Amino acid sequence: RPSLDGDFATLMEFADRARHMKVRTNAETPSEARAARDFGAEGIGLTRTEHMFFEGDRVRAMREMILASDEKGRRAALDKLLPMQRADFVELFEIMAGLPVTIRLLDPPLHEFLPQAEHDLEETAEFLGLDIATLRQRVEALQEFNPMLGHRGCRLAISYPEIVEIQSRAIFEAAIEAGRTTGKAVIPEIMVPLVSLRRELDFVKARIEAVAAEVTRESDIRIDFLIGTMIELPRAAVRADTIAEAADFFSFGTNDLTQTVFGISRDDAGTFLSTYVREGIIERDPFQSVDVEGVGELIQIAVEKARRTKPHIELGVCGEQGGDPASIAFFAEAGLDYVSCSPFRVPIARLAAAQAAIREGRILRGGRARR
Ligand code: PEP
Ligand code: MG
Repeated sequence: RPSLDGDFATLMEFADRARHMKVRTNAETPSEARAARDFGAEGIGLTRTEHMFFEGDRVRAMREMILASDEKGRRAALDKLLPMQRADFVELFEIMAGLPVTIRLLDPPLHEFLPQAEHDLEETAEFLGLDIATLRQRVEALQEFNPMLGHRGCRLAISYPEIVEIQSRAIFEAAIEAGRTTGKAVIPEIMVPLVSLRRELDFVKARIEAVAAEVTRESDIRIDFLIGTMIELPRAAVRADTIAEAADFFSFGTNDLTQTVFGISRDDAGTFLSTYVREGIIERDPFQSVDVEGVGELIQIAVEKARRTKPHIELGVCGEQGGDPASIAFFAEAGLDYVSCSPFRVPIARLAAAQAAIREGRILRGGRARR
């Protein structure tokens, strides 16, 4: 663990008195969450639940779910994942001890989980009790030409609502348990990814609320929770006023938003963006530092529209740019409530948020910042 005492702590306290924007972290594992707390994170702004399923038994259960031939098969696989997910969330809630925790519903491009290599196919066929030809057929049926623009995010949730049901159940049961162990109320924030249509959110929200009612009935404990969405597609940004009617919070996903505003694949950008920067066609890689003129303008439009519908809607950002000082200055100016970044960027984000506030001249007598 890094030492965060002494002059470092003094500087950070000074910064914290100046800033008005909160700093949360993107975290999936207990060690990331703990490191982020040590660095002063004020909650989790993004838990990418798909990242909890890349290894061992978990990737097997995930493959079983994705490759199942029907809902019954998917539910059987999801039932295996439920206790693991519940335990994951309990731990995150306990580490964050009453601070906000935003958990995002499953958002993987399916290809990330499908077996590709020959030995992987063989192992999966054996595990699932399928012959290799049938497995190949099922894998092929799920292949997409553009997985990042394909069957992911809330589109998965709508095709397979049982995923939403199991994840919501895990979240609510974990919130009850962590509330008991920490003695602090846990109010989970459930985030729906890749929304572009208000009705996508309505569909998923109805499922989440039904599970909340069910868990309340079973446990006799009232569950408070928030439901929000990522704003990471241009359509969602321009329809932010309508989507805000159904959302308690928004988090700007500047990775996907940059990809879709520019039409540049976030996975392939490395091949030419460095040339663009070298040739002075763009100043900075927009996947690292927010493109203020394009992506930024869209964010401003969305902020304005969202606040017109719901003045106190909570607005944050959780893309890579959330930990970049120049981007943080822009997000502060755009009026976001928080940035969420990787644990090791939390201190720099606290400083950058303070600098932004000082630049805006929002410091009041006594050094207290005001919104
Ligand atoms: C984003 O798109 O900015 C985001 C935070 O989500 P992900 O990187 O997981 O797509
Ligand atoms: Mg995204």
